[in-house]
Amino acid sequence: THFGFRTVDKNKKADMVADIFDSVSAKYDLMNDLMSFGIHRLWKRFTIESSAVRPGQKILDLAGGTGDFTAKFSRMAGEKGEVILADINSSMLMIGREKIRNQGRINNIHYVQANAESLPFCDNYFDCITFAFGLRNVTEKEKALSSILRVLKPGGRLLVLEFSAPVFPWLRKIYDVYSFHVLPKMGKIVAQDEQSYRYLAESIRMHPDQDTLKLMMMNAGFEQVTYSNLTGGIVALHRGFKF
Ligand code: SAM
Repeated sequence: THFGFRTVDKNKKADMVADIFDSVSAKYDLMNDLMSFGIHRLWKRFTIESSAVRPGQKILDLAGGTGDFTAKFSRMAGEKGEVILADINSSMLMIGREKIRNQGRINNIHYVQANAESLPFCDNYFDCITFAFGLRNVTEKEKALSSILRVLKPGGRLLVLEFSAPVFPWLRKIYDVYSFHVLPKMGKIVAQDEQSYRYLAESIRMHPDQDTLKLMMMNAGFEQVTYSNLTGGIVALHRGFKF
């Protein structure tokens, strides 16, 4: 606003997200497995299979965190390809790099600390960008979507994997109890951090549903935007192209 209140709020959200991922980074992979009963691996596998990454392509794993996608894309893109793991948070990036190095990956990965809202890459550079469980944390989502569109090549694709709105009322009820009551307690016991997992539940509730996100992507300039519901819409995979 005129008085700068919006700026203060935005900075607050960015600082809060930074603190949360600093705090959860060490236990991030373990908590993902526990909280989703391992199902996040299936959501990720579906995304990787939908990505159609081929040898020689340039891939951006945006908000890539501990690098689950990067590790797979590195193999798919091969020696002549290039994979960039970008994340705003240095603790998450460091854990990702360590994990990937321990797996002995080929030499086609770069690590970049970057904000999705203003990506530090050339125009028309990437064949494919994945943005998994990251958009929810971004303060200015429209800005991030335009920044992604700018760095995609014409013909390139964006895949957004994100929590969404369960499609069955009964599932929504169970899910609400689970995310608002069980998750924070799990966070407290396993990661000694109830607050961050309360934020997780709240950020999921606030995030745009399937059709709203589809519209946001179309408004940002993506074409042929479609989505698939996974696990009854608890998660959705949106795809969009730049032409
Ligand atoms: N993509 C990984 C996965 O699926 O396991 C990590 C997801 S993790 C829930 C969200 C990540 O988004 C964190 O590593 C966080 O640091 C990153 N993040 C949050 N805001 C960001 C921003 N504005 N730009 C880039 N990364 C951001």
